[in-house]
Amino acid sequence: MGAASNDTDGGKNALLRALPSIEQLLRRPSLEPLLAGVPRARAVAALRLAVERVRARLLRGEARPFEDADVGQALASLATPNLRPVHNATGVVLHTNLGRAPLAPEAVARVAAVARGYSNLEYDLDEGERGSRYAPLVGLLRTLTGAEDALVVNNCAGAALLVLAALAAGREGVVSRGELVEIGGGFRVPDVMRQSGAKLVEVGTTNRTRLADYAAAVGPDTGLLVKVHRSNFALVGFTEEVDIAELAKLGRARGVPVFQDLGSGALVPLEGEGLSKEPTVPQSVAAGADVIAFSGDKLLGGPQAGIVVGRAELLARIKAHPLTRALRVDKMTVAALEATLELYRDGRPEAVPTYRLLTQRPDELRARAVRLQGLLAERGVSARVEGVVGQVGGGAMPLSRLPSSACILTLRGPETFLDRLRNGDEPVIGRLSDGEGVLDVRCLSEEELKVVAAAVAAAIPGNPP
Ligand SMILES: *Cc1c(COP(=O)(O)O)cnc(C)c1O
Repeated sequence: MGAASNDTDGGKNALLRALPSIEQLLRRPSLEPLLAGVPRARAVAALRLAVERVRARLLRGEARPFEDADVGQALASLATPNLRPVHNATGVVLHTNLGRAPLAPEAVARVAAVARGYSNLEYDLDEGERGSRYAPLVGLLRTLTGAEDALVVNNCAGAALLVLAALAAGREGVVSRGELVEIGGGFRVPDVMRQSGAKLVEVGTTNRTRLADYAAAVGPDTGLLVKVHRSNFALVGFTEEVDIAELAKLGRARGVPVFQDLGSGALVPLEGEGLSKEPTVPQSVAAGADVIAFSGDKLLGGPQAGIVVGRAELLARIKAHPLTRALRVDKMTVAALEATLELYRDGRPEAVPTYRLLTQRPDELRARAVRLQGLLAERGVSARVEGVVGQVGGGAMPLSRLPSSACILTLRGPETFLDRLRNGDEPVIGRLSDGEGVLDVRCLSEEELKVVAAAVAAAIPGNPP
């Protein structure tokens, strides 16, 4: 044992010492053809990456010396962006790991138009003076939600923190024990409360909270009544909760504003097979919530953003808080959000990809899966089409069970298949079920099917990569 491991270590150390320097590699004649025409800085970056990778492999115990081919691979890596498009064959429409909502072409075009040059982001063209970066959005959000005023920040987690800090710091925020939730990524309501400087006052129990519980908790130090939407889990059985209308009535009677963290934030009702009922933002405004926060890139289908709407006097206090500046959005967000909101204003929600992906009919999905099956067959890959159940995702509509269709592949090495599928030139993200490969077509466009079929054929173990 001892002798053998000494030998291995000795071999490894010799190989580590033998790793070439960047200067040596730049002068190595055998690399000249590979590096010809590559700008020097890029060549140096590729050589560094190649040597680093060999070093890491050696340290992991893979005894293989540096080869010229490593430089070719490093150059290829540098030519591939780290952040790049993937094909979503998971059937999860709002997949946080895959970038949540895909944007409408109208939104993408607007982003490109303002990103390329200068814009009137904070410049009032009518007056020729400084303006507000939220101005393009306020009118649309007022029309679409019925609220008096609006503000947009980086994301809904930031919006919730901001609202609590601006309206309840140093005072009490009253929350039901059934709503002290974790949204994901460590975003927990009690922690956000603490961070905002508000004192958390818990009322009710995990499963049941009544209006009387809130009423008993309101006192001279109450800054805010808080309602958090259970976006990512459901409470069933012996339960009771106070709806936003009742809570708003209590707030008005006692002179305490009511804040609702709605999270998923649909602007219009989403009706489709398997979708659960979700409160819309206009419904919450109409029910009397004083301030509402929701995400731009969940059910709304826009860019990442945290949208705050509500009563003008409260919004003025929120806008004046220093966190508003710290959480501000950039011009690309404003551009994408304005274009997305316009689609809703114009009565064209089906032009918003998220809305369309969620409301596809089962027969459309089945027809698409059959087309993918045909394209796979052309490449010698046999798959069967089956009904599967997908999810909305993104911590929205936890009870939804979206009936979808998928191509199912029986494979010899299913894990290897998924790895290769992810790591191809056109990464495809699928899933395994009972040891079979599942490609849900819900989030794949007609145009993507050909590319996906080619990627799948290349990823089948045994087929050339
Ligand atoms: C998703 C969610 C958030 C966080 O929204 P992000 O835009 O992801 O920051 C906050 N609150 C609720 C209730 C949510 O569902």
